[in-house]
Amino acid sequence: MPNSRPNLRDLSLPEIEALFTQKGLPAFRGRQVFRWLSVAGVDSFQQMTDLPKELRRDLEREFSIALPELARQEVSRDGTRKLALRLEDGEIIECVLIPERDHYTLCVSSQVGCAMGCAFCLTGRMGFRRNLSAGEITSQVLKAQEILSSQGLDKKKPLRNLVFMGMGEPLANYEAVIKALNILLYPKGFDFSPRRVTVSTVGLVPQIRRLGQEIRVKLAVSLHAADDQIRTSLVPVNKKYPLEEIIKACKSFPLKRGWRITFEYVLLAGINDSLVQAQRLAKLLRGVPAKINLIPFNEAPSLPFKRPDDKTVLAFQEILMQAGYVATVRQSKGQDIAAACGQLRGVLS
Ligand code: SAH
Ligand code: SF4
Repeated sequence: MPNSRPNLRDLSLPEIEALFTQKGLPAFRGRQVFRWLSVAGVDSFQQMTDLPKELRRDLEREFSIALPELARQEVSRDGTRKLALRLEDGEIIECVLIPERDHYTLCVSSQVGCAMGCAFCLTGRMGFRRNLSAGEITSQVLKAQEILSSQGLDKKKPLRNLVFMGMGEPLANYEAVIKALNILLYPKGFDFSPRRVTVSTVGLVPQIRRLGQEIRVKLAVSLHAADDQIRTSLVPVNKKYPLEEIIKACKSFPLKRGWRITFEYVLLAGINDSLVQAQRLAKLLRGVPAKINLIPFNEAPSLPFKRPDDKTVLAFQEILMQAGYVATVRQSKGQDIAAACGQLRGVLS
């Protein structure tokens, strides 16, 4: 049965404090609740042991703190885990837990589907269904943490990095994403370090500027081409925000010392993988504190593109490195369970 009580997970700390004050309760009770909401495994008010019993009961009557339900978990040969979560209205989202050397990274979704329609992306193909709420975004982190700690996996590799590279365009769901980021960065709560949180965008210029003014997290921009003609054919929103404007916004994006903006570039055979394109990319990014992440296209039967061969990928990378850039090739993980970049589409097949 759908829950009609407002879910407290959708509120920021100031909002919870204001709510408690309005009810004539001290603001610190709100802070206590807010902190409990960042603890994996807590899914009822009864578990909030430092609150008076009566208050727990009152809160329970009025509010929900329900989490999405784990609909399916798939584990890849390389240890990558794809979690499918069922939201209250039945929609399915996916997030991906990726094992790194000494920690896990969680690839988080921000929308059900995506309206941007990039030609090579399965999420784009499913179209836009709806935005996620702030609580639906942070819940992915809690579900992932729950899974890791229930198996003792977080002892060796804690969940430490977040990348907003799952389903959806985070900056097209700006309000919920910024609220979720603030919740996730709160030091006495989830306490993620800003340098370990990356928001990836297709290049929505006004929101890139706003993000830079409102919060300190890392930025990744999905470029995929170094000229407007090719980019528009792959990323339709390039018509609205062409490369020159994206680069301008990146140049004025405030970065902490030593930080760089990551530029993602999906390599598609015969489309954007020529050496001339690599040289153009090097030129385009001159003057930007940049790091380039090349992603050889992950093929899918319904997508009309091919992955370039390794030699082409390495030659493309070499040109960027010779031009002085840090350029890495993403080893897409979890391909055997369709958990790699661009393979999330929220269906339980
Ligand atoms: N909407 C945001 C974040 C989600 S997509 C964005 O576009 O940046 C995360 C990354 O996966 C993007 O760089 C996207 O271009 C890439 N991607 C999408 N489909 C892909 C595919 N089939 N193969 C490889 N990478 C893909
Ligand atoms: Fe949306 Fe990003 Fe996929 Fe483009 S690549 S359709 S912006 S999720």
